[in-house]
Amino acid sequence: MLRLILLGPPGAGKGTQAEKLAEELEVPHISTGDILRQAVAEGTELGLEAKKVMEAGELVSDEIMLGIIRERLARDDARRGYILDGYPRTLPQARSLQSLMDERSEPPVVIANIDVDREELVRRISGRRSCPNCKAVFNVHAQPPKKSDVCDACGQKLTQRADDEEATVRQRLAVYDRQTRPLLDYYGDRVTPIDGQGTPQEVFDRLSSLVGQKAERGGRS
Ligand code: AMP
Repeated sequence: MLRLILLGPPGAGKGTQAEKLAEELEVPHISTGDILRQAVAEGTELGLEAKKVMEAGELVSDEIMLGIIRERLARDDARRGYILDGYPRTLPQARSLQSLMDERSEPPVVIANIDVDREELVRRISGRRSCPNCKAVFNVHAQPPKKSDVCDACGQKLTQRADDEEATVRQRLAVYDRQTRPLLDYYGDRVTPIDGQGTPQEVFDRLSSLVGQKAERGGRS
């Protein structure tokens, strides 16, 4: 049983790490960014509302986000645990999450903060490309596809997220500093810093070792 909150700026590798850890531990990877992108792709009311906000590098309202997370955590698979990637992102979201967990009588979670140097973040995010078909993620600098702009797995042309263009990336990082970084003070010594520099495997090893230690201590953070 693992309940993990993964904090960290955009581009720190939260999605990559969460995906891998979720597969290994058989718990759902809950990415609010993925949920919103799915809504945008489906053209739902939520998607239409979220699209502009996301493309501007801003945050979707706390009220909408709480509705999304409440609904997602209520699904059966989340009873086995979960990895939260991209939520909470503001202090009101962190407080709502706490009340939600209290309502569910859930014991404390493991909280990790993956951090990477600022210029490296910009480089990573603006180099990120993904496959619209099978969702595989590449990076033109660190993990290029074999053939430029083509997915290794399924041959589809790779795309760049609209909010991954450099100007929007800088805006997202400014929003992170203003609205999300304060969560580190809010959680205080419950947060364990994870060095996000190095290869994805190196970061994964650090994260797995933290999760393993916490599991041995019965999930107390
Ligand atoms: P991500 O994939 O986590 O980088 O999220 C992409 C975008 O979705 C963010 O830049 C926000 O516009 C929006 N988003 C994702 N999660 C949240 C959240 N918890 N609160 C507000 N907006 C969010």
